[in-house]
Amino acid sequence: MIKEITGHTKLLCLLGSPVSHSISPQMHNKACELLGLDYCYLAFDVTPETLPAAYEGLKTMDVQGFNLTMPLKESIIPLLDGLTEAATLAHSVNTVFKDGDSYIGHTTDGVGYMRSIEEAGFSAKGKTMTLLGAGGAASSIMVQAALDGMEEIFVFKRKNATFDKAKAFCDNISAHTSCKLTLLDLNDKELLASCIKKSQILTNATNVGMGNLEGQSLVDPELFHPDLFVSDVIYHPEETLLLQQAREYGLKTQNGLYMLLYQGAAAFETWTKQDMPTEAIKELYFH
Ligand code: NAP
Repeated sequence: MIKEITGHTKLLCLLGSPVSHSISPQMHNKACELLGLDYCYLAFDVTPETLPAAYEGLKTMDVQGFNLTMPLKESIIPLLDGLTEAATLAHSVNTVFKDGDSYIGHTTDGVGYMRSIEEAGFSAKGKTMTLLGAGGAASSIMVQAALDGMEEIFVFKRKNATFDKAKAFCDNISAHTSCKLTLLDLNDKELLASCIKKSQILTNATNVGMGNLEGQSLVDPELFHPDLFVSDVIYHPEETLLLQQAREYGLKTQNGLYMLLYQGAAAFETWTKQDMPTEAIKELYFH
C-alpha cells in the first residue's frame, strides 16, 4: 500500500554518497506504516562539500531526525549542537535526533552490533574480545562494547599510517571506561594466536571477506578454540570464509545482517520513542 503523504507528514532521511543502494528507506517507512506513524524517510545523495547547506535546509524544514552514512559520519560533528557519550568517544555520528530545539549526534552502529550478538546468546559483561580492524565499524564496536562492560579488547590492525591515530583512539576509550583496549600489529601472528586464546569472542570488522577480498580470512582456523564465539560485520556475502571455517569447526557464529537491522532500530527509537517492530522487518527484508 502506498502511504498517503499529507501536510502533517514529518520528514526523516538518510544523507550520504552513494545512498541509492541503502535498505534504510524500506526499513524505516515499513516500520512507520506498521506502527501507524506519520513520517516519511527519504535518502539524499550528499557529499562533505554539500553537507552544510543540506543540514541548514533540513533544520529550516524542521527535520525530525536523520541518518548519516559514508562519507559524512565525521563531517557532521562540528555542525551539531551536541553529541551523546557514545558519539563523543567514537568520534562518529550515524544518527541525529532532536532534543528540544537542539540537534544531537549519536552513533548506533555499536549498539546494533552489541544487540545482534546478545540476541545470538553472547553476553559481553566481563569478557575478552579480539577485534580485527580499527576503522569506522570497529571503532563503534569498541566504544559500545566498552560501555556495555566488556573487560578487555585486543584490537589488531595493519601497522600503517593510521596506526598511531588508532592507538590514541583505543587509549582514550581505555581512559574513559572500565574496559582495557590494546592496539596490536595484525602481522604479529604469534600475538594474534595468544590473544584469540584468551578471548571468548573474535570479531572481524575489516573488509577482508567481502568485495575483492571475498574468500579470504585473516585468521587461521587452527587458532579457533571451543569457547570462541565468532562474528563478522560483513553481511554480503552472508557467510564469509571466517564464519564458514568457524561453523565447520563447530563454533557459534553471527554475520553483520542483524547489526544493520538493530543500528536502524536504535535510530528509529531515538526519533519516534517507539520500538521498531524488528521481527516483522526481519521477515520482510532480512532473509
Ligand atoms: P573502514 O573505516 O574503511 O575500515 C576498514 C578496516 O578494514 C580498517 O581497519 C582497515 O585496516 C581494514 N582492512 C581493509 N583491508 C584490509 C586488508 N586487506 N587486510 C587487513 N585489514 C584490512 O570501513 P568500515 O566502515 O569500518 O567498514 C568495514 C566493514 O564493516 C565493511 O565490510 C562494511 O561493509 C562493514 N560494515 C557493516 C555494518 C553493519 O551494519 N553490518 C556497518 C558498517 C560497516 P587499516 O586500518 O589497517 O587500513
